[in-house]
Amino acid sequence: MAEKTLPLDSSRLNELAEEYPTPFHLYDERAIRETVRSLLKAFEWCPGFREYYAVKAAPNPHLLKILKEEGCGGDCSSFPELLLCEKVGITGEHIMFTSNETPAYEYQKARELGAVINLDDFTHIEFLQNTVGLPELICFRLNPGPLRQSEGNAIIGNPEESKYGLNMEQLIEGYRVVKEAGVQRFGLHTMVVSNELNSSAFVETARMLLSLATRLKKELDVQLDFVNLGGGIGIPYHPDQDPVDLVEVGQGVKQVYDEFIGRDGLEPLNILMENGRMVTGPHGYLVTRAVHEKHIYRDYVGVDACMANLMRPAMYGAYHHITVVDKQQDPHDHVYDVVGSLCENNDKFAIQRSLPKIDRGDLLVIHDAGAHGHSMGFQYNGKLRSAELLLKEDGSIQQIRRAETIDDYFATLDFGAL
Ligand SMILES: *Cc1c(COP(=O)(O)O)cnc(C)c1O
Repeated sequence: MAEKTLPLDSSRLNELAEEYPTPFHLYDERAIRETVRSLLKAFEWCPGFREYYAVKAAPNPHLLKILKEEGCGGDCSSFPELLLCEKVGITGEHIMFTSNETPAYEYQKARELGAVINLDDFTHIEFLQNTVGLPELICFRLNPGPLRQSEGNAIIGNPEESKYGLNMEQLIEGYRVVKEAGVQRFGLHTMVVSNELNSSAFVETARMLLSLATRLKKELDVQLDFVNLGGGIGIPYHPDQDPVDLVEVGQGVKQVYDEFIGRDGLEPLNILMENGRMVTGPHGYLVTRAVHEKHIYRDYVGVDACMANLMRPAMYGAYHHITVVDKQQDPHDHVYDVVGSLCENNDKFAIQRSLPKIDRGDLLVIHDAGAHGHSMGFQYNGKLRSAELLLKEDGSIQQIRRAETIDDYFATLDFGAL
């Protein structure tokens, strides 16, 4: 099996783990910048193309600042995510606000910031109107339901079973209603795949949205400013998988775009995306140390990270590759369950995984933890969220989030009132 590479050599990783207590997340700035550049390059044929980084994937202002410098906007779905963008200077239409079950104060903040508001339901038109008023630009999230012909996607599921978006009839009616209410600019969004490795899925999405753009123009004289293909570009969690060919995605979407744009008079329609995973996912590492081993019906290695640091294996049965830092050349002739300390038996980073022989104190790196990793963290069993470190382009390390302390954990309790 192919191996995955580490962002630092083993001696530097060991030094780092001496200086900062494990577990911690480590992000590779250079690789993040290179990845986002390759995405933007694949769409450079579309002058207005923008990637709105999905903030939820790694909501750290230092990472957002890097992405802003590369020209990204932010895709937000909550008040705190809006604030994070504001703090790093991502404002106005560089924010896409795609939320669901949204309270009025969140819409209020989105309006204050001039964000693009992406409505998740027909009834939200009236809700927005009655609470904060309709902005000049409105976007709708389409749930294509059975109209989407491809197979369901493991994380998002079948569109018909998904809670997001408006169905087709509601969508058409939605544009009619907001146009009548004075909205002047329009966007169309969908998000039907997640962690999708097949580039044709994104081309299909573009075709679906562009043919809808044509229909909106013909039936309602609604001229879309943009279609947003959503996020969902997958990453090769398993070393035997191949990354998505971004050039293939870009060129495939271009072909569809060229087919529709002039013929149906859609110009100057813009293409947007809002990926999280592909931008930071492969460039974040969860560094943890083996603290115990036990041998019962299976062989277990206990590490000092747990599912609160990275929930994907427990939540989705997701594969995350593991490298034993000082034993990279050793034969992978031991089979382990690599487990965390939660009182939940699904707190396992790897199940029946062939690895080198692991001893207590060995440093382990869990790969592809840079998106939907730290951000999914929680405090069950009194687990404290770990630190986040940034490996900067000049090779230095910056702590971009400290680890939580017991005081943080108890901060919302009033012991004085006992
Ligand atoms: C989660 C999410 C994304 C990002 O998904 P990735 O798989 O990280 O690319 C984009 N848009 C919306 C609306 C989302 O909910």
